[in-house]
Amino acid sequence: MANNSKEVVLKGIPASPGICHGFAMLFAQINIDIPVYDISEDGISIEKERFEKAIIATREEIIQIRDQVSNSLGKDEALIFDAHLMVLEDNALITETIQHLEQNKQNVEYSFNVVVERYINFFKTIEDEYLRERVSDIKDVSRRVLNNLVGAIKNGGQSTQHSRIIVSEDITPSQAVGFDKNNLLGFITDSGGATSHFVIMSRSLKIPAVVGLHNATEKIKPNDYLLIDGYEGLVFINPTTETIKEYDQIANKHLEIERTFQEELVEKTETLDGQSIELMANIESSNDISESVQNSFDGIGLFRTESIYLKKNGMPSEEEQFEEYTSVAKNTNGKPVIIRTLDIGGDKLINGVHDDSFLGLRAIRFCLENLTIFKTQLRAILRASVFGDIRIMYPMISGTEELDKANYIFNEVKEELLSEKIAFNPDIQVGAMIELPSAVSIIDLLAKKVDFFSVGTNDLIQYLMAVDRMDDRVSHLYQPTHPAVLRSLKTIFEQSESNQKPVCVCGEMAGDPIYAALLIGLGARSLSASISRLPEIKHYIRLMNLGELKELINELMTLDQAEPIEQKLIAFLEKLKH
Ligand code: PEP
Ligand code: MG
Repeated sequence: MANNSKEVVLKGIPASPGICHGFAMLFAQINIDIPVYDISEDGISIEKERFEKAIIATREEIIQIRDQVSNSLGKDEALIFDAHLMVLEDNALITETIQHLEQNKQNVEYSFNVVVERYINFFKTIEDEYLRERVSDIKDVSRRVLNNLVGAIKNGGQSTQHSRIIVSEDITPSQAVGFDKNNLLGFITDSGGATSHFVIMSRSLKIPAVVGLHNATEKIKPNDYLLIDGYEGLVFINPTTETIKEYDQIANKHLEIERTFQEELVEKTETLDGQSIELMANIESSNDISESVQNSFDGIGLFRTESIYLKKNGMPSEEEQFEEYTSVAKNTNGKPVIIRTLDIGGDKLINGVHDDSFLGLRAIRFCLENLTIFKTQLRAILRASVFGDIRIMYPMISGTEELDKANYIFNEVKEELLSEKIAFNPDIQVGAMIELPSAVSIIDLLAKKVDFFSVGTNDLIQYLMAVDRMDDRVSHLYQPTHPAVLRSLKTIFEQSESNQKPVCVCGEMAGDPIYAALLIGLGARSLSASISRLPEIKHYIRLMNLGELKELINELMTLDQAEPIEQKLIAFLEKLKH
């Protein structure tokens, strides 16, 4: 609650709209994210129990690895793991952790880390090389223990009693899928941009988020009371009672507005001058499908399948995937469901897949190098295709060779299913994402090889402008209204039309009313966005006049900078409100 400390306001990037207030849960970045929080007297025994379980789990892990290494490489190579077991069972490490926990009443992973750091610093000063080398053993073992402790929290074993606002340098998508939503109020990060994947996830979960704050983890202390304004990108540390009251009122107003958007869901999605616009939903799992998707929208424009892999932190079986895709197909009333094949890499990493570059072995590139994984997914999608209007889409297509290879594998999988007499839809539509500048340049060539396109503006802007979508230091250069973006989008819509290929926009631009107006004015007739954003987009589409919008776009195409283009679009939208 508001206390006597002074209110401090931080400004970052508004990433996921909404307002929330509550206590901070800080994740210090010490190789892995370690939360720091106070515990009560009663909580001490719970923490000790967690510690014991983590030690047992770590012991089992090390023994398993030791036996594997011993079998594959030999006994000598496995000796190192005996040394690790000795570190783990070191009495001093365990008793000092318990002592710190009891005396300071801080959570066990933090207490353990304090002790481990002390030991590491001590060993580093020792002359004896053999002992100095023990530092890496301690680091390795402590990382395992911490992973077991922190992993348990992130997988729902939260030991704090209150819902919290997560404060961290960064949050990866695999961490985001692990958080227990019931204990989560909001996200605050030092780094990241408005299209980081964890941000997209928080938007679809309606969890307020502010990112790109640079040094929030230094300014915010464990257990500080915080307020997040996800609309404006503000974070209040120790907000006053007045600030909290004011924001509770703002939150209520937003709720009221959202209610009016909901009432409009029964109406058609068309502009004032009668242009109908297709509105589809972006989903991450079958659980995202709500009644409004079934009744008020036009299907699933983007099913990001990565979450299935991230939740598992590995490769899901064909059967697991088949069940997930079938469930989506069955719950969408026969409307189209566009399933995107695995887009792993970049910021979406799975255990054992270590390419964190957006320019590296990501998406279709990864799949074409890992054919078993790719084929397993294609089989599951094809098998599910008999249960609805499932379509398939490849991410990150750069050219026709890549597309040919993907289609070749796809046809091979179809042949296999045919020979196994397994049913699938033989006319299943295949599409390519347009999210690389190279794909924009040769879109007419790609058009000959697919049934439809979908524009990934998140990556298109990143690759067109050479601005890492995760890097807060260059987020000012990530400009959806840059003239180069406008020209590329115009080319995409014109070329799709002249090549008679349907095109949808499924990047985050489609879920922001200002950019949705821009897209429609430029020629988009189909948009796909997070379900939480769709009612508002529908509301604004119903207020727009396409004729007026086209005139505005003609003017915008003559401007040479992003900022005036953005301002004119904001003014256009403001006028619609009155
Ligand atoms: C995009 O790039 O716009 C897109 C929809 O894909 P993702 O955000 O998952 O990269
Ligand atoms: Mg993309």
